[in-house]
Amino acid sequence: MTTQVVSNTQYAKEYIDGVFEALKEKNAHQPEFLQAAEEIFLSLVPVFEQNPAYIKHNVLARIVEPDRIISFRVSWQDDNNKVQVNRGYRVQYNNVIGPYKGGLRFHPTVNESIMKFLAFEQIFKNALTGQPIGGGKGGSDFNPKGKSNSEIMRFCQAFMTELYRHIGPDVDVPAGDIGVGAREVGFLWGQYKRIRGAYEAGVLTGKTPGYGGSLARKEATGYGLVYFVEEMLREANQTFFEKTVVVSGSGNVAIYAIEKAQHFGARVLACSDSAGYIHDPEGIDIKLVKEIKEINGDRINTYVEYRPTATYHEGCTGIWSIPCDIALPCATQNEIDGDSARTLIANGTQVVAEGANMPSNLEAINEFLNAGVLFGPGKAANAGGVAVSALEMAQNSGRTYWSFQEVDEKLHGIMKSIYAQSSEAAKKYGYAGNLVVGSNIAGFVKVADGLISEGVY
Ligand code: NDP
Repeated sequence: MTTQVVSNTQYAKEYIDGVFEALKEKNAHQPEFLQAAEEIFLSLVPVFEQNPAYIKHNVLARIVEPDRIISFRVSWQDDNNKVQVNRGYRVQYNNVIGPYKGGLRFHPTVNESIMKFLAFEQIFKNALTGQPIGGGKGGSDFNPKGKSNSEIMRFCQAFMTELYRHIGPDVDVPAGDIGVGAREVGFLWGQYKRIRGAYEAGVLTGKTPGYGGSLARKEATGYGLVYFVEEMLREANQTFFEKTVVVSGSGNVAIYAIEKAQHFGARVLACSDSAGYIHDPEGIDIKLVKEIKEINGDRINTYVEYRPTATYHEGCTGIWSIPCDIALPCATQNEIDGDSARTLIANGTQVVAEGANMPSNLEAINEFLNAGVLFGPGKAANAGGVAVSALEMAQNSGRTYWSFQEVDEKLHGIMKSIYAQSSEAAKKYGYAGNLVVGSNIAGFVKVADGLISEGVY
């Protein structure tokens, strides 16, 4: 009996290692993608050990290869009548569970590696939501910072003039991400509608409420993150009440995470942008942050002009040296490395949950898990945004609108279910309390089973 288990484990490890080695060879120049793949692969040994059919059907190699990667030229004219050229992407990774679904990121760092890591993660995240959505991601190396409204509009129109032929309400449904909010989605949607000559509202999510958009979509990722942490705390017989919280970023995810954490009685001490962070020991004034970021589009350092209790510090990593009970990284990938993780642990942080995608590198994750910090991986903890995007698709299909409360209640239920699935999968496979393993397995198994049921093609 023991020999059999050992040999199954060996067999599973050898299979997974073989797929990863081949992946590294083919994608040597894509570090973010390999990092995301490695994190998931490491979790899957017990699954392959107990399900040899997955090896027989070679599901890992099939899932890790995107269905297709579309890359295209986007030319547009700036306000000085100069023609600019950017590169657009759409990675259609896997549609076993539903149409490809995932946001668009406009940021100068966008490249194929980042698109692929985000799209790969998205497959399992979307599976966890229980909604009928597959995995995809897209974007461009276009930098929206400092561009006029007209320039943003012309860029979005040029981007959609190519993208429209690859997407559709039952094919691929993009949404927002870094640099793409309701304004950009509106421009993209307008151009799609114009070209198609039809009102196919379900082709994009994150639209303005009243114009095909769902209420509570804007709040969904941040609120969902806090609902997820609420479940983590519940299992430890704790709540948000009077906990201190540090949140990185001051964009869409960060703002609504702060709002909901405060609603539950937490004191949020700090938030940031890509230049630096503000520390307000009396508690962040979220109305002021919203005014600075959402209305004025200013930098976060202007906060200290209005709040004498607050200080501004340049650089991003220093934010993790502020002692706190709960840390919520909500800015970007790899913002917490091993050193920052060790600082958080030394300062007594009990919970880390990822609002951003892959904000903690592998070393940091291992530090948290080894130190017994409750760790909520982004794939599970930030799935609220895409979950409400799927609810937006459902409303669009039914040509109806649901109230804010109705959507928020559904979101809350989905986040509880994601927590339960992740926690149960971790227990089932012998890793109780490890939500990284649990969420990877729970998401993966759904996709793997669907893939096998489709047959080989
Ligand atoms: P936004 O563009 O609204 O905000 C991003 C925030 O992160 C800004 O404060 C930005 O600062 C900061 N930031 C960006 N790059 C860096 C960097 N290199 N170092 C430090 N800070 C940085 O994006 P979102 O809030 O929508 O997205 C944040 C994260 O959450 C991303 O990882 C995204 O993929 C993930 N996510 C988003 C979802 C959504 O629904 N929006 C859903 C699930 C995940 P600055 O203004 O200076 O650029």
